[in-house]
Amino acid sequence: MKVLVIGGGGREHALAWKIAQSHLVKKVFCAPGNGGISKIATCLPIKANDIESLVKFVQKEGIDLTVVGPEEPLVMGIVDEFEKRGLRIFGPKKEAATIEGSKVFAKEFMKKYNIPTADFAIFSDPDEAKAYIKEKGVPIVVKADGLAAGKGAIPAKTLEEALSAVDLIMIKRAFGKAGERVVIEEFLEGEEASFLVLTDGENVVPFPSSQDHKPVFDDDKGPNTGGMGAYSPAPVITPEIETHIMEDIIYPTIKGMANEGTPYKGVLYAGLIIKDKKAKVLEFNCRFGDPEAQPLLMRLKSDLVKALNAVVDGNLKETLEIDPSPAVCVVMASGGYPSSYEKGKLIKGLEVVEKMDDVEVFHAGTVYKENNFYTSGGRVIGVTAKGKNLPAAIAHAYKAVSQIHFEGVHYRKDIGFKALKHLGRFVGIVMGSLSDKDIMFETKRILQKLFIPSEITVASAHRSPERAIFFAKKAIERGMKVIICGAGYANHLAGLIAAHTTLPVIAVPLSSSPLMGFDALISSVQMPAGVPVAVVSLDKAGAKNAAILAAQILALSDSELQDELKRMKKQMAEEVEMAARAL
Ligand code: AMP
Repeated sequence: MKVLVIGGGGREHALAWKIAQSHLVKKVFCAPGNGGISKIATCLPIKANDIESLVKFVQKEGIDLTVVGPEEPLVMGIVDEFEKRGLRIFGPKKEAATIEGSKVFAKEFMKKYNIPTADFAIFSDPDEAKAYIKEKGVPIVVKADGLAAGKGAIPAKTLEEALSAVDLIMIKRAFGKAGERVVIEEFLEGEEASFLVLTDGENVVPFPSSQDHKPVFDDDKGPNTGGMGAYSPAPVITPEIETHIMEDIIYPTIKGMANEGTPYKGVLYAGLIIKDKKAKVLEFNCRFGDPEAQPLLMRLKSDLVKALNAVVDGNLKETLEIDPSPAVCVVMASGGYPSSYEKGKLIKGLEVVEKMDDVEVFHAGTVYKENNFYTSGGRVIGVTAKGKNLPAAIAHAYKAVSQIHFEGVHYRKDIGFKALKHLGRFVGIVMGSLSDKDIMFETKRILQKLFIPSEITVASAHRSPERAIFFAKKAIERGMKVIICGAGYANHLAGLIAAHTTLPVIAVPLSSSPLMGFDALISSVQMPAGVPVAVVSLDKAGAKNAAILAAQILALSDSELQDELKRMKKQMAEEVEMAARAL
């Protein structure tokens, strides 16, 4: 078979990579493709939304199957145009793709078929939208109806933000016609996850769960991006929740679409929010997610082309064979992304990673020139690795990432950390004052190097004891396993926390007072019986040791972490030795 993949990002590289492995396939083409894709497929200078040129190429070349990556051509009706001419194409027809192309349609559809989603209202008049926002209050989410390159959903924490989102979408028309109508919906709390299925309009075959990371910085800070990384499976989706998703969301959606006379064929992506074991739909997408496709396709053992053919032919009967090893994709982006960034930077180290087992580098924004790859987009590459478990996959992905460099590169250091929290790795860090942050961030940094998620809170034993007690009481329920407290002066913080939890508590005395930390040390170490606090050394050394001690406690039931600790301790010893030799 000759197969054409439409699109030119990391998702399309993963699709082309998987398709090229099929015994059914002789040649893969990609329009327009990118530098990385050009190594495994013939790239064509045709844009993904130039349907006429794509049709002409497919007819001329005798392409047997076309696979559409991005949403835009699907929403424009590429499948209808191909099918009209008897050409085989994978993806939903225009009317079915409206499930992504119009949020108004998606929300009304979900309401009609009782599919769980946030409460909402639809407006075509900005003043009415604003009046509704004022009535409902914040937080609230304002969404442009049409496609807006992933930027059309604006969660607002303040009234001002919400009202200016209406102005941006409906008056300034930042997303053009997509902003003729808005959906205003209830802000949902919970953990996000993605759930993708293949469907021929009737039969449904699920992929394993996955999770994207939209905000640009660690701990979900900063503006949203196309996605800074993903992993699969997502432990927030337990087998019980998966059954609920299939029964209450996926099947009603597929049946509902058929009932509407617009059967849905292709890959259906449900963007979900999970809370209290219940899933609600944030959005539907009519294609694979980018970067979720990268870990999902890396885990797929079945022949993808066979499955895509079955969807096109309407006889999707077999399930997908999935590698039980989890996979993690870390996106390496250009400096400045998601705002403006420079292009044309030489990417170094790819040849080292090529030799690593269980790692694939999927290119998103690269060009290939004179034997080298150069950056050409915001998201540049998605380094995707498998491991025997999630911590191992995360460590392996970051090991590969550490080998690759280009000027200005940035990437998140916490991809997959939400999953690790579910697996029992989570440390709470409390500091008595914001002025302790330089030292206590050292604790966070060491924990991060060991792939241990942590959360920093400011709570003072003296100035905000209720806050500290609340934190201590909630810690177990939130999945924390150890609490580290850093404070100076008469440091009662660790004691106060220890009095309100059964978790191990570690104190880091800080030398912020005129007594140079002697006071903090004595007040941490002198705890009454029944309120144990482990005290480490003062200041930065203490901050580091607290992190390592916490890791050692977690490692009692986490052999992967034991290995990481051994590696870190060895590295620390070597650094000391090197410094000594340099003297
Ligand atoms: P959407 O395009 O609708 O998936 O929205 C993009 C992102 O906005 C989602 O991935 C969420 O992070 C956020 N979001 C969308 N809808 C809501 C909601 N109702 N409550 C909270 N966050 C939301």
